Amino acid sequence: MNRSATGIRGICYDAGSSFQRGPALGPGEIRKELNSGGMNLSAENGVDLNQWPTCDLGDFTIESYFDIEALTLRHLKTCDRLFTLGGDHSITYPILKAYRKKYPLLDVLQIDAHPDLYQSYQGDPYSHACPFARIMEEGLATRLVQVGIRTLNPHQQDQSERFGTEMFTMEKGLPGAPLKFENPVYISLDLDALDPAFAPGVSHREPGGLTTREVIHLLQQLQGRVVGADLVEYNPSRDVDGLTANLGAKLMKELLGRLV
Ligand code: MN
Ligand code: MN
Repeated sequence: MNRSATGIRGICYDAGSSFQRGPALGPGEIRKELNSGGMNLSAENGVDLNQWPTCDLGDFTIESYFDIEALTLRHLKTCDRLFTLGGDHSITYPILKAYRKKYPLLDVLQIDAHPDLYQSYQGDPYSHACPFARIMEEGLATRLVQVGIRTLNPHQQDQSERFGTEMFTMEKGLPGAPLKFENPVYISLDLDALDPAFAPGVSHREPGGLTTREVIHLLQQLQGRVVGADLVEYNPSRDVDGLTANLGAKLMKELLGRLV
C-alpha cells in the first residue's frame, strides 16, 4: 500500500450521542451519495480525486469506544493522512490520541455549533459533548481553534478559558483573515456547524449557523499542512430528502481536496 495515499474510512459509532442515535449510519449514506453518479469527484480547488492517491480502508462498526484509537493507529501505519466519516463527535478524541503519536505537534480546527468542552455530560466523560475537553486535558492539540460556536454556556466558557482555546462564536463572527497554522493541522467538521437550513440531518439543530459557502471558503482559505480530517454527526434519520447526505458528500470532497 502507498503510504503517501490518503486513507478514507468510516467509523460507524454513535454510542456517544446524548440525544438521538443515527450517526453510525452516516458513512454509508454519504458514500452512497458521493458515488451516486450525481456529482463528479472534483473539489473546487481543482483536485480531482480520481487522479490522486486515495486508499479506501472501508467502514468499521465499533463495539468499544477505545477500539477507535487502536484502529486509527493501525490505519496511520498504512497511510500518513486519514479522512474519517463519522459517527458522532465523540470519535475525534480517540482518533487524536492515535494521531498525536505520529504527529507530536498538531493544531486542530473544529468547525461546530457546539464547543464540545463539557467536563462530563449526563455522567459520560466520553459523550459527544466532551471530546475537546479530553483532547485539551491530554495535550493532544497544540492549538485548538473553534469556529461556528453558538451554544456557549458558562461552564464551557470556563473550560475554554482553562484550556486556552481560540473561539470564534457566531456572535463575534467568522475569522477576519484566513486561518494560519504553523504545525500540521487536523480539521474536525461537525455538520451542525452549518445552519439547519443547509444541514437538517443532524441530531442537534442549532439555527443561526454557517452557510455552505462560508464553510467551503474557510477550508479553501486555510493556510497550513492538513494531515487529517473528520466529518461527523450526520444523522440520516433526521435528514430531509437526502439534502444533508448531499452536503456531506460535497464537504467530503472539499476536505479531501485539502488533504491529498
Ligand atoms: Mn461536535
Ligand atoms: Mn455540534
